[in-house]
Amino acid sequence: MIVITERCVGCAICMLVCPAEAIRVEGKAEVNIEKCESCKKCLIYCPINAVSWVE
Ligand code: SF4
Ligand code: SF4
Repeated sequence: MIVITERCVGCAICMLVCPAEAIRVEGKAEVNIEKCESCKKCLIYCPINAVSWVE
């Protein structure tokens, strides 16, 4: 499961690369887990490693 950590600075890159439109950003990013397809693009593209994958 994708988890956005407290480090997030709200740059919205993850929202732009998410193919499922599962991320919205209001100050910080939030993931709609029901929409998430577990592609991990948000994790790969986050410039400050604020996204984690938790089994
Ligand atoms: S790319 Fe990283 S820092 Fe930017 S909004 Fe997403 S989680 Fe936050
Ligand atoms: S893992 Fe993929 S589908 Fe899920 S929030 Fe990240 S970019 Fe979107």
